[in-house]
Amino acid sequence: MTGSLFSIEWGIEIEKKGDSVPLFEQVHGNEILHLSKAGELEMASKALPQADGAIAHFNQAEVHVYTADCLPILFFTEDPNGAIAAIHAGWKGVKKGIVQKAYQELSHFKNLHVLIGPAIGVCCFAVREDFIQEWETANLSPRPFLSRKNNRDYFNLLNYVTQEALSEIPPSHLHLDWFRCTVCSTPSLPSFRRNKSANPRLRTWIRKTT
Ligand SMILES: [Zn+2]
Repeated sequence: MTGSLFSIEWGIEIEKKGDSVPLFEQVHGNEILHLSKAGELEMASKALPQADGAIAHFNQAEVHVYTADCLPILFFTEDPNGAIAAIHAGWKGVKKGIVQKAYQELSHFKNLHVLIGPAIGVCCFAVREDFIQEWETANLSPRPFLSRKNNRDYFNLLNYVTQEALSEIPPSHLHLDWFRCTVCSTPSLPSFRRNKSANPRLRTWIRKTT
């Protein structure tokens, strides 16, 4: 699937590990790289940096993330000189604040847009009480985002992210049309929970054409 707006293009595809070159090693943390020129990471070091997102500040940039149930989140702006970003946000990264961090680092750009791709839905994300308590210990409030079904709690990670971390983004700038559950929706998507493997996976990319 691909889309575009202004001089920005984005897409999501299913691929096998090795089909594309990673920019960084994803570790479910909250580090976000800032890139100011093409090939910067390759020149900086032979080892991949550990991070879960990249913000690119130059023309004709392209960044991407890999997911298989975690949220792939893209940021772009209407400013021709604005940055683009791709963020990998599973529940661990969300709990560590990676989405707020990305938003804060980009919020000075006018007309910021956010696109969230397929990820585990509330339909499939059963959580236990110790999961909920772990969030509360971190002073977060997951309970409004829980649904009770068959005596189990299900967590709505998408709503948590859009309402807690991205509440400043107006609905018209929040692109959720591609969101569907990676675990149970059809046609099937890569899901770690379902396949016990992140290979294949989704690659969610964004680039500036000018
Ligand atoms: Zn589901």
